[in-house]
Amino acid sequence: MDYLGEVFALGMDAVIFAVCLRQYVYYKNAVKAIKDVEIHEVGPNLDTLLANEPGNKRYVGVRGVVRPLGEPLKSINKSDVTGVIQKLTIQEHVVARTSAGFWSDEQRIIQTIYNVVPFVLQKDWYSVEVIDPLSADVLNLDVISDHFEPTVPTLVDHIWGFFTGIRQRGLQSTEKMLREDSVITVVGELSSSETKSNFLTLQLPLNGSPFCITSMSVTALIRKLDNRTKVYRILCLMCGTVGLLFGGIVARRYWKNKQEQRLAEELRQSLEASRQERRQRVRDSDLREDQICVVCKTNAREIILLPCGHVCICEDCSASINNNCPICRTQITQKAAAYIV
Ligand SMILES: [Zn+2]
Ligand SMILES: [Zn+2]
Repeated sequence: MDYLGEVFALGMDAVIFAVCLRQYVYYKNAVKAIKDVEIHEVGPNLDTLLANEPGNKRYVGVRGVVRPLGEPLKSINKSDVTGVIQKLTIQEHVVARTSAGFWSDEQRIIQTIYNVVPFVLQKDWYSVEVIDPLSADVLNLDVISDHFEPTVPTLVDHIWGFFTGIRQRGLQSTEKMLREDSVITVVGELSSSETKSNFLTLQLPLNGSPFCITSMSVTALIRKLDNRTKVYRILCLMCGTVGLLFGGIVARRYWKNKQEQRLAEELRQSLEASRQERRQRVRDSDLREDQICVVCKTNAREIILLPCGHVCICEDCSASINNNCPICRTQITQKAAAYIV
């Protein structure tokens, strides 16, 4: 197939476009959902809020102080910091040679570890448990430590780097935490616990609305989500343009090919017609035995076989005779039209 490359590129582009479009729609809806959401402090008002709701469920934002249920997690870098979610990341910084021959900085995540303990949002005697916080779409954590350890390259590393196109610069280890006692807003589905009475939970909404755990204000959160919407909109536009461009190129090439094929077919038909006419003329003039094709015994001899030089077959028969001359059995290297007048 002629268009395999283009069709493959078009397919890839379509996949990327679909992913970006999905993200764009998701974030657009997320911004809308969060703009409409009410923010409440943890307190008895949440119970009254749920009492009026069918199914005892409601999508709301709840503000409160983070308190672990049980022992909190301890920071591994700062012993006085405790929290309920801990994210440890090790990133490798390398300088890699690009396909264009330049060297560019790249970061690769080697490992990410999450540690979580159950926690609640609390105020006075009231609390709401946050279920499965890692499923949150927005999860803001404080950076507790960020450490970069540069690699000291040896001569072997330099040589190795030259051949492989990758030079190591160093390792960055980051620790982030959701601190104990910090005031945060959790936007999610508020419902009363099925197991414990008088106990409220906040979790990922089943209807696809975003689940956010953040210390930011709602306006800042909306701005953040809005920025993501813009990024995906730009990506969608880019992929769309590339897709249209590729589609145009493929359509143009297809149309051109079709036209070339049509012209070639027209040419072939006109040649065939003139050959038929020529034959008819020859046949009309009563062919002698030595002028008739030795294979079909009908048409005139029209083809010269080389290198032996025998003119013994017609054009139709020559299509199926490619190896040896039917007269002298010499290997055929070339065939050409012969005009006997
Ligand atoms: Zn023939
Ligand atoms: Zn021959």
